[in-house]
Amino acid sequence: MKIKGAVLRDTSKPYSMEELELDSPHEEEVLVKWLYTGYCHSDLSNLKGRTMMKLPLVAGHECAGVVTGIGKGVKKFKEGDKVVGTWMVPCGHCPECRKGMGNICSGNFDAFVGGTMLDGTSRIKDFRGETVLHGNFVSGFSDYTIVPEGGLVKIANDIPLDWACLMSCCVPTGWGTVTKAANVKPMDSVALWGMGGVGQNTLRAAAMRGAYPLIAVDVEESRREKAMKLGASHFICNAKEDPIPQILELTNGGCDFVFETCGQVGATEQAWWALRPAGKLMMMGIIPQDQPAKLPLIFSVFHQKDVIGTLYGGVSVQDEIPKLMEMAMTGQLMIDTIIEGYFKLEELNDIAEKMENRELGGRWICKLES
Ligand SMILES: [Zn+2]
Ligand SMILES: [Zn+2]
Repeated sequence: MKIKGAVLRDTSKPYSMEELELDSPHEEEVLVKWLYTGYCHSDLSNLKGRTMMKLPLVAGHECAGVVTGIGKGVKKFKEGDKVVGTWMVPCGHCPECRKGMGNICSGNFDAFVGGTMLDGTSRIKDFRGETVLHGNFVSGFSDYTIVPEGGLVKIANDIPLDWACLMSCCVPTGWGTVTKAANVKPMDSVALWGMGGVGQNTLRAAAMRGAYPLIAVDVEESRREKAMKLGASHFICNAKEDPIPQILELTNGGCDFVFETCGQVGATEQAWWALRPAGKLMMMGIIPQDQPAKLPLIFSVFHQKDVIGTLYGGVSVQDEIPKLMEMAMTGQLMIDTIIEGYFKLEELNDIAEKMENRELGGRWICKLES
């Protein structure tokens, strides 16, 4: 069938909007019509060549839609089911999956960065008949796509799909890192760097856990109001002042947990100094792979400071998403505050540019059906 999608062909160029040919679903694969896809900072990192994804690919990984067809052997889905896409598909039998860490499944990692279905091939071709790859299994910036059965989570019918798409990435990443990987407890002191989609969800989760002080740091002063609304006790604009002396004072010597959500070396190196002894620096942003951070690891010994990375919040999103969706519906996750606006697929390059220029103050969601 003919589909339309935003193709990332060359990291020095914008997305190209193309008509593509989509094969039918193979065994244990599902045909999905995406309705909403969020624009995540990792999309921008892929666009700018800061990651390791193979090209050309159909971009987008934070998506929700409806099942419109199923391949042989699909057991969990039927046509009409509302679904959220997941950008990691645990194989279920690699050493990581066996330890309950399907979010870093090594069995399917090559397909994840290689842009294929689980059998190592793609279902998408361009008008020349040449292969186009799948963006992290789900290819969210296309109207229709094929997804492995394990790359979808079914959600209740009464759930708005524009809220649901955020369950694909920024919500579980923030929630999981705060509540599972860090296990923030009431009155733990927390600072977080970055007030993008992941940062805002991290902030909300830490506020729900009763963290105090809860300090949001961002280079944009304009994000103060939203930070306070989502539950921060303090906001510091680190473009205007060095946040470290103030954080050390507010926390009586440093934070129990610091979350780096912006994927920047400078932010990471600054955030390190906000830790108290035995504090943990939780790394969530995707730092460009050619930029190593300079951290004085002597204090990892003398002060027992830790650096801990998490992918997808360190949780099983297949288990967490239905629960998070219910929490979103109660209003606790403040999804309506985190969503800032909507755009059309044709406007994707404008949104990417605005994110690069730090002009977006929250999540922007592509409405794929006009
Ligand atoms: Zn993302
Ligand atoms: Zn695995």
